[in-house]
This record gives sequence, C-alpha cells and structure tokens, in this order.
Amino acid sequence: MRIGFGVDVHQLKEGIPLMIGGKEIPGPHGAVGHSDADALLHAICDAMLGALSLRDIGYHFSDTDPKYKGIDSKILLKEVYKLICEKNYRLVNLDSTVILERPKLNPHIPEMQEIIAGILEVEVDQVSIKATTHEKVDSFGESKAIKAYCVCLLEAHS
Ligand code: MG
Repeated sequence: MRIGFGVDVHQLKEGIPLMIGGKEIPGPHGAVGHSDADALLHAICDAMLGALSLRDIGYHFSDTDPKYKGIDSKILLKEVYKLICEKNYRLVNLDSTVILERPKLNPHIPEMQEIIAGILEVEVDQVSIKATTHEKVDSFGESKAIKAYCVCLLEAHS
C-alpha cells in the first residue's frame, strides 16, 4: 500500500470557463492556467504520482509546453493513471476537498465522481469529493482563487 497527497491552486478570473473534476461549472468566473486549470484533477494527479514517488504533474506535463496549452485535464489524469498501472498499482480510494467560495459545488459532485471513477476504472464510492468555502476570508474567500487537496491510497497488484 502507498499513500499520496496532492494540492493545487489556480487563480480565478471572470469570463472564462471553470472546470472542476472534469466538469464545467456554470458561474461568474473560471480558473486561469496553461491547461484547462482543473485544480481538482491536478490535485488527484499529484496525489497518485506522489504515492509512487513519481514527482509531480508539472514534471510530466510542463506548463510551458505548447502541447499542453488548454488541454483537458481528464487526458492528464488518464496519462497519470497509466503510469500508476504500469508500475502495477491500482487505486484503492481517494479523498479530496475543493475550496471555492462560489458557486456551490455540492449539486455537481455526483457527476464529478462519475467522471473521475470512469477514468480510473473504479467504483464511484472509491472517489470522495468534498467542497467547502473559505468563509469569505483571504484570497480563496474573496473568490480570487480555487484550491483542491487530495489524498489517495494505491495497492500493488501482482
Ligand atoms: Mg494546476
């Protein structure tokens, strides 16, 4: 068994799409980034890479490489999980938290779980997603940024 941890932050800006957990979330702002800036999928990627000491998402997919400009982070997650599977590990479960002041994410969580479980070929209850606000405090509470945390457990398969 191997445990991994990941965290990611993206700045928020008005008038661009907000991608979280592979799903576009309607709202007043979106996340800024070289890829589609999906903080949750990036935190999940980092947790799984970290579990096997395989560096981080920026090491595998450079944020200066034009190849990854605007890329759908579901593709990155799929690539990361391929690396994990090539090392003969599989996901046992992951638990994540997204910090976003608005909009409320709770109505979108089941669909995000479905998307992520589909990519990782696991059951929906192996993918936990939680959401919280930052109580209007600091840059997250002022809707200047989004943050996601993830821990995961991987198990070796013979
Ligand atoms: Mg990121």
